[in-house]
Amino acid sequence: MIRDLLCMTAPVREGFDIPCHEIGPKSSQPAVALVAGLHGDEINGIFILSRLADFLNSVEAGKYPDLRLVKRVLIIPAVNVLGVNLRTRTWPFDKSDINRMFPGSTTGETTQRIAYAVLEATKRAKYRIDIHTASADFEEIPQVRLYGPTEAERETARQLGLQAIMERSLSPVFTTTMMYSWKVWPGQSFVLRVGQAGTVQLDHCQRVFRAMVSFMGRIGVLEGVQLAVEDEEPCCFDKESAFRVFAEKAGTFVSDSKVGRWVRAGQELGYIYDSFGGTVIEKVVAPVAGLLTGIRRHPLLFEGDLILRVNRKG
Ligand SMILES: [Zn+2]
Repeated sequence: MIRDLLCMTAPVREGFDIPCHEIGPKSSQPAVALVAGLHGDEINGIFILSRLADFLNSVEAGKYPDLRLVKRVLIIPAVNVLGVNLRTRTWPFDKSDINRMFPGSTTGETTQRIAYAVLEATKRAKYRIDIHTASADFEEIPQVRLYGPTEAERETARQLGLQAIMERSLSPVFTTTMMYSWKVWPGQSFVLRVGQAGTVQLDHCQRVFRAMVSFMGRIGVLEGVQLAVEDEEPCCFDKESAFRVFAEKAGTFVSDSKVGRWVRAGQELGYIYDSFGGTVIEKVVAPVAGLLTGIRRHPLLFEGDLILRVNRKG
């Protein structure tokens, strides 16, 4: 079933609403809550969750006779629904970041009411997953992000079936994120970061889609899933494992390197060209041996810009 999470009116246009899928057997609370599009330009997550909702609805409709959805799943594919329309990260009317509006309120500004409605719908779920991307200039490997995790969350993160798990402490500064509000509740909370903003990266989306279906099989939400043997164990990385390369010169950065590849120390991963002269002015190499977890995709480079990140295996 698809319902409107929150209907809003606008001064000079028709009202709009945030779609919310509730799929599977009726229960007071969902087993899994999946959220994307808190930032309106992060389309990978929106695409993954809308496809996942369609898939689970098809399971419900009996189109996959081997599969059975035995617990309730709640999916909000695009929280910042207006931002998606206008291709903006923030809420278009007041440029506010919805992921800085939690826990929200029923009486505040629109973005606070949105935050409140999303939190109310998701906070009692056993597993809560919020999907983001890096910026439009930078691509990141599909990864699980843990913030000040419990042991149970660490274990579940491995079952999410992505190549990399990044662990961070829960920031005492950003207390107005959805993650921070989720953490107050029983249950487990995860952020997935998938690729870059502003585009659909089909490889990444398909990988995460399959990972979500397998995950729902493993936790007993979706019965009948054929669990593939993972070709690679997920790697856990802490903050200290990250080695970044910054631009020493301005120019045009070009690379055919793919995120998710293991690289050698000193391996050439891209080139900075003189933007008008066309000569190579710098070879960009891996600072250490490890996994290429992020790389710049916007070619125009200023001195000091982040070019890439390699994470060393612990
Ligand atoms: Zn985001």
